[in-house]
Amino acid sequence: MRTFEYFKPTTIAETLNLLKEMGDRARVIAGGTDLMIQWKKRLISPDYLVSLRNVSEMDFVRLNGGLSIGSATRHRTLELSPMIRRDFPIIHDAVSQLGSVQVRNSATIGGNLCNAAPSADTAPPMICLEANAVISGPNGEKTIPMTEFFKGPGKTILQTGELLTRLDIPQPLPRTGMAYWKHTRRKAMDLPILGVAVLLSFEDDMKTCARARIGLGVAAPTPMRAYEAEKFLEGRVIDHDVLAKAGEIAAESASPRTTIRGSEWYRRDMVRVLVKRTALLCVQRARGAKST
Ligand SMILES: Cc1cc2nc3c(=O)[nH]c(=O)nc-3n(C[C@H](O)[C@H](O)[C@H](O)COP(=O)(O)OP(=O)(O)OC[C@H]3O[C@@H](n4cnc5c(N)ncnc54)[C@H](O)[C@@H]3O)c2cc1C
Repeated sequence: MRTFEYFKPTTIAETLNLLKEMGDRARVIAGGTDLMIQWKKRLISPDYLVSLRNVSEMDFVRLNGGLSIGSATRHRTLELSPMIRRDFPIIHDAVSQLGSVQVRNSATIGGNLCNAAPSADTAPPMICLEANAVISGPNGEKTIPMTEFFKGPGKTILQTGELLTRLDIPQPLPRTGMAYWKHTRRKAMDLPILGVAVLLSFEDDMKTCARARIGLGVAAPTPMRAYEAEKFLEGRVIDHDVLAKAGEIAAESASPRTTIRGSEWYRRDMVRVLVKRTALLCVQRARGAKST
């Protein structure tokens, strides 16, 4: 068996130093639920593994005007957070349906995003919430909108030696409803055929859309925003016809591929259907959270 060295730094600074020293022969490992499979398939063969397991600075969930999530936070931590469930149900929707409890106990939100699978369940909610990725590397820290983080299937803007350290999410407007719809063939443990994240904020009348955000997963080579559909919704009184039209516009802007999980035409049609359905859930949730 091929040998490798395993490091367990305890701080971000120590992690960055190790990554700088080892260059592209090192890989970061968080929960390992993607990385170990790629290693087993011989898609990667690192000489050094740098674990994030003991880097507590990257494992937190914090309200600070908005929401900050350390990238090494496990899905299960997010799933069990009453604050996430109440204030950011779109994240709860995504993480509570990701893999199994066993997977969620190891796997992290940063690993899900850095692995950059088009099917990553946390990506549509993050782009929909207009999250910013905070990246630390040899040249210091920078902040990049999540919409610019993904470069293609399995590819991100991260360079050798860089770490995604946290996600900063702005506070949503009052009277906001948000939801993520994971469309799968079966209920138990499956990757999405399509992932639809919608956020709708309302004016005082609770009818007119003040802000719309739509994030789609597996609808293009990278997670995407449906900007035209968002623009169509903003300023309009929301009803079934308006939401149906927004679904059509979003479907036109998608560029899905045919894969074993679904064909191009089916995915496009489901964007049409599920944008409306997810938006209706947002309306319901916004009405439930009217006073916030
Ligand atoms: C049985 C099973 C079911 C699954 N079901 C789903 C599902 O339903 N939905 C879904 O989206 N995914 C699913 N996955 C995939 C996987 O569990 C998730 O993508 C998970 O969140 C990856 O996180 P991790 O911490 O295990 O990442 P790791 O495997 O440790 O890392 C993944 C990649 O990201 C890099 N990385 C990790 N953290 C950082 C960081 N902070 N900075 C820079 N690079 C970093 C690693 O170097 C590696 O390249 C499943 C996996 C399994 C095995």
